[in-house]
Amino acid sequence: MKLDFITLFPEMLQGVFGSSIIRRAVEAGILRIDYTQLRDFAFDKFKQVDDTPFGGGSGMVLKPEPMFRAVRKVLANSRDIPSVNRRILLMSPDGVPFTQEKAKELAKYEQIIFLCGHYEGFDARIVTELVDEAVSIGDYVLTGGELPAMVIADAVARMLPGVLGAMDSAPTDSFYDGLLGFPQYTRPRSFEGLDVPEVLISGDHAKIARWRRKESIKNTLLHRPDLLEQKELAEEDQKLLDEIEKEIHL
Ligand code: SAM
Repeated sequence: MKLDFITLFPEMLQGVFGSSIIRRAVEAGILRIDYTQLRDFAFDKFKQVDDTPFGGGSGMVLKPEPMFRAVRKVLANSRDIPSVNRRILLMSPDGVPFTQEKAKELAKYEQIIFLCGHYEGFDARIVTELVDEAVSIGDYVLTGGELPAMVIADAVARMLPGVLGAMDSAPTDSFYDGLLGFPQYTRPRSFEGLDVPEVLISGDHAKIARWRRKESIKNTLLHRPDLLEQKELAEEDQKLLDEIEKEIHL
């Protein structure tokens, strides 16, 4: 997969993606990451990429011309990728909420181009004409689109085969199938009087799987009941939920 970031601050992303799992994915050839400096596409001698808003008000707005030129350049450099295999995303607090489902969906594309905003955001013509969708990482406002783009890129990248060391770790993560995760333990078996649940050292894999599933459902019920309401539970999961509800009300 190719990830392109159009940004005024490529060094912010280079630092993060230059380490750990994403760096290994790049070295393994699973990911290719390119950074485009928006300022290089400004057309005046002051390299201006922003201007005051029409209608007045405080703050600066990203001008359309540099962004259109930058996106066109990235597209020209990616001619080998069919447009149906590409997604152009604009980072914005008023975009569609980013979720694990969205990460899975985006992982099917061959290329994602991220437009990182700054100041008061983008000229609206960038939003309406240039991108497939605006995406938000949550109901709060950050100073720029670099962090949201990194969050989305990281979540998408770990969905790609070969990016995670243990190939099956993503499906047991929180949100993967609409539930929160289950508690994990490692050595020692006993720490300051706190013991690892017996079932986990029983060696009985069916019992362990059942315990983990039940803990996942319990965790979701206690911390994110909204997720359970949206999920259609299989018969076995419904039985576990009934058990949990009985235990809680004992
Ligand atoms: N004036 C904008 C508004 O009220 O929606 C906020 C602009 S914000 C200060 C600057 C840039 O940060 C945005 O253009 C966007 O790229 C990015 N940004 C901030 N919060 C974000 C969020 N929750 N999700 C995605 N991008 C965000």
